[in-house]
Amino acid sequence: MSVLEHPSFDNHEKILFATDEVTGLKAIIGVHSTVSGPACGGCRMWSYPNSEAALQDALRLSQGMSYKNIMADLPIGGGKSVIMKPEGPFDRKALFEAFGRAVDSLNGHYITAEDVGVSPDDMMAVRASTEHVVGLPEGKAASGDPSPVTAEGVFRGLKVCVERGLGKSDLAGVKVAIQGASGHVGTYLAGHLARAGAELFITDINQDGLERLKAEHGATIVGLDDIYSLDVDVFAPCALGSVINPDTIDRIKAKIIAGAANNQLATREMGAEVLKRGIIYAPDYVLNAGGIINVMGEIAGDFNPEWVKGKLVGLEQTLAEILDQSDREGRPSNLIADEIARQRIEEKRAAKLAKVA
Ligand code: NAD
Repeated sequence: MSVLEHPSFDNHEKILFATDEVTGLKAIIGVHSTVSGPACGGCRMWSYPNSEAALQDALRLSQGMSYKNIMADLPIGGGKSVIMKPEGPFDRKALFEAFGRAVDSLNGHYITAEDVGVSPDDMMAVRASTEHVVGLPEGKAASGDPSPVTAEGVFRGLKVCVERGLGKSDLAGVKVAIQGASGHVGTYLAGHLARAGAELFITDINQDGLERLKAEHGATIVGLDDIYSLDVDVFAPCALGSVINPDTIDRIKAKIIAGAANNQLATREMGAEVLKRGIIYAPDYVLNAGGIINVMGEIAGDFNPEWVKGKLVGLEQTLAEILDQSDREGRPSNLIADEIARQRIEEKRAAKLAKVA
């Protein structure tokens, strides 16, 4: 498999393939850019069908982190890691300790945290092998699980979209379909939305979580595949990526797509398809930056909830500016966000080079 020629390679600074025979670790760490600072992004553990799928995920997620971090104006670069979940039973603590050794070998160029399939406890196991880990439940400046803050950022951005798309300043009676509602972010987002009066439609492969949300918020449980074609106002993808694709786009009736999942669009070109259908799309890495904003305090060693709140207001403003530009120019919001992110990275790179010269 070619790596340097991979369509998602995008000049990654480093890619580390890490294996450990004893624990069964198979991991890929992508360091996309350290122009703004050490690359920071979560670790995902998933049952990938093969290493090609894992590499594709690592590269796209890692580039996305560079864009996310620069759009949130954080002094960190972009990176991400994936662990191919071992088949059969495995020693979870030992696996994450081995992963921590791989992170440590990058000497601080990459800082890890939680992502899908990984918990704060797993990060404590990583901490046994390296100090380059955040999102810890305890310790100096610990920021804990980033998911509640990610959900708050998504909630705030979703309201910005509702105001523009539906002309409503509140969420009373607004119908929202949440994919991945039993997950960390999905559950918190459901709580915010329900408290704001939204009507919820939820799906997940984990039924237990759904039953809890139904009991708590009166949410309606729908089938995994039915979530796309519901007659709702907002579709909030909060599971995995590539859910906006040629198979789903024509089924989506929602006027707004705003969720936490990374890489929601299967390809960049899907942004134009979304726009063509009159749907407002909140670029995923702008909307879901709450979690990385939260861990930033931990990286800086000085966790300050007030600073986090201010950054979440900034997230709303950035989203509104992107959607304004999209309206003015009649161009997809995802492309506009990508352009702004790339331009900011290039400016940082030029400033850094000028200092060295
Ligand atoms: P999670 O693993 O806790 O939740 C994901 C949920 O999606 C799980 O409940 C899972 O059962 C469900 N799911 C998986 N496949 C599904 C399918 N085909 N249909 C319906 N549901 C399905 O992960 P999370 O931390 O809540 O993250 C959710 C998404 O948000 C991910 O894409 C993640 O990368 C992104 N994100 C998370 C954070 C964060 O702070 N946790 C920050 C930024 C972005």
